[in-house]
Amino acid sequence: MPVFSKRVKGLTPSATLSVSQKSKELKAQGVDIISLAAGEPDWNPPEEMKDASIQAIRDGNAHYTENSGMNALKNLLVEKLKKENNINVTEKNVIITSGAKNALYYTIQTFVDEGDEVIVFSPYWVSYIEQIKLAGGIPKIIPSSEDDGFQIDIEKLEKVITSRVKGIIINYPSNPTGVNFSVDELKAILDIASKKDIFIISDEIYEHFNYEDKHVSIASLSLKYPENVITINGFSKSYAIPGWRIGYAVASEDIVRKLDELQSHSTSNPNNIAQFACIEALKSCEYFVKKMVNEYKERRDFMVESLNSIHGIRCFKSQGAFYLFPNIQYYLGKEIGGKVPNDSIQLAEIILEKANVAVVPGSAFGMDGYVRISYTESMPRLKEAIKRLKNLLDS
Ligand code: PMP
Repeated sequence: MPVFSKRVKGLTPSATLSVSQKSKELKAQGVDIISLAAGEPDWNPPEEMKDASIQAIRDGNAHYTENSGMNALKNLLVEKLKKENNINVTEKNVIITSGAKNALYYTIQTFVDEGDEVIVFSPYWVSYIEQIKLAGGIPKIIPSSEDDGFQIDIEKLEKVITSRVKGIIINYPSNPTGVNFSVDELKAILDIASKKDIFIISDEIYEHFNYEDKHVSIASLSLKYPENVITINGFSKSYAIPGWRIGYAVASEDIVRKLDELQSHSTSNPNNIAQFACIEALKSCEYFVKKMVNEYKERRDFMVESLNSIHGIRCFKSQGAFYLFPNIQYYLGKEIGGKVPNDSIQLAEIILEKANVAVVPGSAFGMDGYVRISYTESMPRLKEAIKRLKNLLDS
């Protein structure tokens, strides 16, 4: 057996995946598991998008598209960016990729050399850490705190920036906390990073899942598109097509050219048929996003109130995404269902086994003492999940 590279040896298996694996096994045994662990909407994409992709197949669209994505889709994205995000760019500033994850991967490969540090705020979405490590970089983690509403501590940020820091990754509304950042915070981050020539990756994939305010893109806070900002986004969440794999990056022309070169030597163009569906999404499916987001807002309100009514759980009311990040520290070291959990992984296992509800341990996002709850189940199923959690935890 040839020896694995240091890069893959350094990969940490995703704890998110291990919980969903266990819950799949229990489901296969016929156990009725309510999964509050998913990272994707439970909705089906709109009919218009399905029809557009079926039509694209019938029309024989089986060939490579432009390497950086179809011009028709890029042009619509340019319009969308102007209208929704107040970002004025041309199609040369946009690249379509095989999901937002793919756009992030190219960006990190483009900027991060061996030993470069990249700032990530915890709790964080796991793939940032692994992608930085894959590029030979070092994730520099700044913990945020529930007491500050999981916001970014700007003073702390300024203090940790040394000459080794090459970039900062921000994600808002956030996976896993669901919190949003204020315009003042975003301005401060942009200001600090721009002065020091540090790149900012702004992962805005949950932009539409914002229940309190209109989303503000960090790149819109400067007169011209900022040279150091790479905005990452995609269709997986807003249009409920995570499996169709379409994401995109917006950046200066020089950066987009590099991302395009990387794409040309790795995946080539993103899926042809799915791009047709995304064209339709931007043309006619704004109603769908609104409808879905309204329902998620109702679910969030219900879940925050219900979780807080369970003895020992403290759940911060976050503004967006479809996640909540309740504090479960009260239960650690206490007997629940005949077992004593010492950390969030053990508590998540007990909840899965005894209440048949799947949640993700906070340690998967770099913060123990919490679990991530996705409200990507229907209202009746969420009500049932709360009943089961109450039965287990209130006792
Ligand atoms: N960023 C964040 C914060 C995410 O939660 C996800 C999906 N879980 C992605 C990026 C990746 O999205 P995509 O399906 O477009 O690759």
